[in-house]
Order: sequence, then C-alpha cells, then structure tokens
Amino acid sequence: MKYLVTGGAGFIGSNFVQFLLDESRDAEVINLDALSYAGNIDNLVEVMDNPRHKFIHGDICDPDTVSCAIDGSDVVVNFAAESHVDRSIASDKDFVRTNVLGTATLLAGALASGVKRFLQVSTDEVYGELPWAEPEQEDSSAPRFTEDTPLAPRSPYSATKAAADHLALAYHVTHGLDVVITRSSNNYGPNQHWEKLIPLMITYALQGQPLPVYGDGLHVRDWIYVTDHCRGILAAIEQGTSGMVYNFGGDSERTNISVVKEILEILDRGQGSIRHVEDRPGHDRRYAIDSSRARSKLGWEPSVNFSDGLRDTVSWYVANQEWWESSDLDG
Ligand code: NAD
Repeated sequence: MKYLVTGGAGFIGSNFVQFLLDESRDAEVINLDALSYAGNIDNLVEVMDNPRHKFIHGDICDPDTVSCAIDGSDVVVNFAAESHVDRSIASDKDFVRTNVLGTATLLAGALASGVKRFLQVSTDEVYGELPWAEPEQEDSSAPRFTEDTPLAPRSPYSATKAAADHLALAYHVTHGLDVVITRSSNNYGPNQHWEKLIPLMITYALQGQPLPVYGDGLHVRDWIYVTDHCRGILAAIEQGTSGMVYNFGGDSERTNISVVKEILEILDRGQGSIRHVEDRPGHDRRYAIDSSRARSKLGWEPSVNFSDGLRDTVSWYVANQEWWESSDLDG
C-alpha cells in the first residue's frame, strides 16, 4: 500500500510515519513536509534510511508539488497544518493558506490521481466549547462532543480546520472522493514542539523559568497519547466508512492547572513557579470527546493511562534537551 503522508516531520505526523512503517510491513510512505518552524527533520531520524520511506521537502499549497508527490499513492493522510491557536490569534494568514488552501489543493490532487482514500486529520476544536464540568467523573452526565455535534469553531485555527473538514466532505458528496475524517482531542508525547502546553511546562520547569498558566487554569481538555491517536488513524484508514467522521479521545479529562502540577510532581519541583497570566482571548472552557463510534465500528480504544503517558513524555524531554533547545520559534 502506498501512502502520501503530509506534515510527516511534525509532532503527530512523525509518530504516525514511524508507527505505520513498523505496523504495516507492506506500507510505502512518501512524506511531504514544508519544514515550517514546527517541522523538524530530526523527528525522522529513525526512518530516514528505511527504503520504504521517502521524504520530499515541499508545500501542500503548490499543485505541481502535490501532483508529483501523490502520483501512484493509494492513500493520502493529511497532517500538514498550522496548528497553534495562539499563533492563529496573532495572525491567521498562514492558517488560511495551509489549512484551507493546502487541503483544497490536496483534495484536487487526490481526485485527479484517483487515490483510494483521503484521510483528513482534524481536531475536536472544530466543535467549539462545552460548558464547564468537573473532569474525571466516570458517571458524569456532562455533555461530550459526538460526531453529530454541529461545528462551531471559535478560534481562527479551529475555523480553518472546520473549513478543511467541510471541503473534504464536499469532495466526497460532490465528486465521490473516498474521504474519512478523524477528530481527536489534545495529543501529547515525544516530538511535540515546545510551544504547546505540556512540552512548554516541562521545558520551562527544566530551565527554572516561571510557568505561565492562562487565567484560572481551570480550562478542561481531554488528553490522548500520540500513539493511541496514530492507531486510531490507521484503523480509520483500514476499516472506516467513506464519508464518515470518527472521534478519538483518551478518556483523560484534566484541568490545565492539574496537568501543570502533575508535571512538577514528576520533576520533583515545588509549585512556586506557577504564574497565572492573562487568559487567551476566546479561550474554550472545556472539550470532552465521545469516542463510542470508533470503539464500536473500528474496535479502537485508548490504551495509555494519562499518568503513565505523562511520565514517559517528561522522560523524553529530559533525555532530548538538545532537540528542544534547537527548535526554532520564528520560522
Ligand atoms: P505540527 O505543527 O507539529 O506539525 C505540522 C507539520 O505540518 C509540520 O511538520 C510542518 O512543517 C508541516 N506543514 C506546515 N505547513 C505546511 C505546508 N504548507 N505544506 C507542507 N507541510 C506543512 O502539528 P501536529 O500537532 O503534529 O498536528 C498534526 C495535525 O493534527 C494537524 O492537522 C492538527 O490540526 C491535527 N491535530 C493536532 C492535535 C494536537 O493535539 N497536536 C489534536 C488534534 C488534531
């Protein structure tokens, strides 16, 4: 099976490429990535010499690049994106370009080349926000996002991701392209750029810097370990129904402040370095995901317990200081 993976030098994409090559012995991967500030070729060190992996440095917004890269592919998996909400608030230009125009360019390329399946990697953030509820209540009747929850994005990032989802489904309905969309909650694990919450807190703590927490820190997120997400994406490629959306969550709802405190505990640091800072504009209060469809239709369930996954993630950042110290923020 021949895969075109876009954004495969980023956090989830690089984990997916490694996972796919390990998991599926007949998989051949073309990895197309523009190496933005978030892409890091060092994320691919384990697969660079693998004869079933080929890296192409290129932009998904360029039709000629896409047409060359996609030629002969059976499946397209689109991870390429601008992915940081704070950056989308500062300027949404690159988000509209890559997340909307780039996805449209890939969809047109996929249609022209006759791929068998287009997997669009999306996010639970397209659903907007849920009212606040205490996390970790197993019998909680608090609402969660299902695949039928109407899209109501509230940040420029999530608005561009929702636009991409609509485009992908429109290609399915209008042109008959085989499209599957996956929407996951917040990922964590190795290779994530340090600007995101968990790596930011780990790396700041390791450097003895104050840890900035937005507002009261009670915003609730569900956390999924990155390899659980990768397994879900592969299951959706192999068993998903064309035109369907599948949610993936880690069954690990936490307030941001409790995540930060747990990181400090793992690192054996006190909580004195926590600083509450002015909240992000439009900061969604709660996300919670219902993955019942993925469980019942794909036989998928998350396997990594949050505390174990967080401990492994902290260990990875401790062991890979050179990696995060050299990460570029300006791109
Ligand atoms: P990331 O920012 O770590 O990686 C994005 C990758 O896309 C980078 O390697 C970058 O170089 C590449 N890229 C950017 N613009 C490009 C372009 N024009 N052409 C080609 N490549 C380009 O992002 P991530 O956290 O790995 O997220 C991957 C996907 O998963 C995104 O679509 C994101 O919306 C989605 N997602 C992420 C999370 C999360 O928690 N990180 C959760 C749900 C969904």
